[in-house]
Amino acid sequence: MIAGIELGGTKTVVAYGDPDGRVAAEWRFPTTDPHETLARAVAWLAEKGCPEAIGIASFGPLGISPDRPGYGQLLATPKPGWSGFSLTEALATAFPRARLSIDTDVNAAALAEARLGAGLGVENLAYITIGTGIGAGILNKGRPLHGATHPEFGHLKIPRAPGDAFRGICPFHRDCLEGMASGPAILARWGHAAAELPAEHPAWELEAWYLAHGILALLAVASPARILIGGGVSQADGFHAMTAQHLSQIAGGYFPAIDAPDFIAPPALGQQAGIHGALLLAGS
Ligand code: ADP
Ligand code: ZN
Repeated sequence: MIAGIELGGTKTVVAYGDPDGRVAAEWRFPTTDPHETLARAVAWLAEKGCPEAIGIASFGPLGISPDRPGYGQLLATPKPGWSGFSLTEALATAFPRARLSIDTDVNAAALAEARLGAGLGVENLAYITIGTGIGAGILNKGRPLHGATHPEFGHLKIPRAPGDAFRGICPFHRDCLEGMASGPAILARWGHAAAELPAEHPAWELEAWYLAHGILALLAVASPARILIGGGVSQADGFHAMTAQHLSQIAGGYFPAIDAPDFIAPPALGQQAGIHGALLLAGS
C-alpha cells in the first residue's frame, strides 16, 4: 500500500491509494500545529496499515533537495510554528521502512493534472495557483522542476501597472507578484475579498494584467506548453480568458506556444489534485 499526505495552509489530506494516483481511502482534517497535524495523519495511516511508500505534497517554502540542509523541512514560513519542522523526520520515525518522497503542493498538483487531469500528455506543464498565496509547479519533460530549491513563481518581481500606487503586501518583497495579486492583496487593495467582487469590478482587469506579466516571465524561462491556473481567485468569471487576452497583448507575437488551443486553462481535478499528486510522488 502506498500513501499520500497533502499539507495545506488550512487543511491536510491523508490517503491510501495506488502508484497511478488513484485514491482508495482518504481523510481530511484542519491543519493545526505541526506536531498535532502529523500525529493525526500518522495515527490514521497506522490504523489502516503500514505504507511501503509515502508521498508528501506540502505548502512551502520547503527543503526538497536531499543533498542540502533543510531537506524535508518547512523553511522560512510566516505560518506560526512550522518553520524548521521536519516532515520527513516525523514520518520516518513513525514508518521507518517507508520510502519517502517530498515535493511542493503545486508540483504535486502539476503531476496529477498531467497524469489524470487537464494536462493529459503535456510533458511541459505549469500549474499556477492563486489563492492565499501565488505559486507554480512546473513539469519539465514530465518531471517536477527542482533547482537548489523549488521555483518561487509568486515572488517574481514584475512591473507595476501604470498609475498603480498600491504598496504590495509581501512581507519579504512588498510588491512581488504575490504581494500585488494574491487573494489577501486583492482584499488589502480593494477592501473586499476576491470572492465578493463582481465580474465587472476593475479589480479583475488589473489582476489579469499582473498575472499575465508573471506568466510572460514563466514562458521566457521555463517554456511550458500549457498553463493551468487554479486556486480560489481563479474561479472568478472569465478569469482564464481575461488572463490569456492580456498575455497575448504583451507577448508581442514572440511566443508561439501561447497560440495553442487551451494554452491557458483551468485545472480539472480541483481540490483533489494535491492528494492524487502525493500518491504519484510516492509511486515515482
Ligand atoms: P488557499 O490558498 O488558502 O488554499 P483558496 O485557493 O481557496 O485558498 O484561495 C482563497 C482566496 O480565493 C480568497 O482570497 C478568496 O477571496 C478567493 N476566492 C474564493 N472563491 C472565489 C471566487 N469564486 N471568485 C474569486 N475569488 C475567490
Ligand atoms: Zn514576495
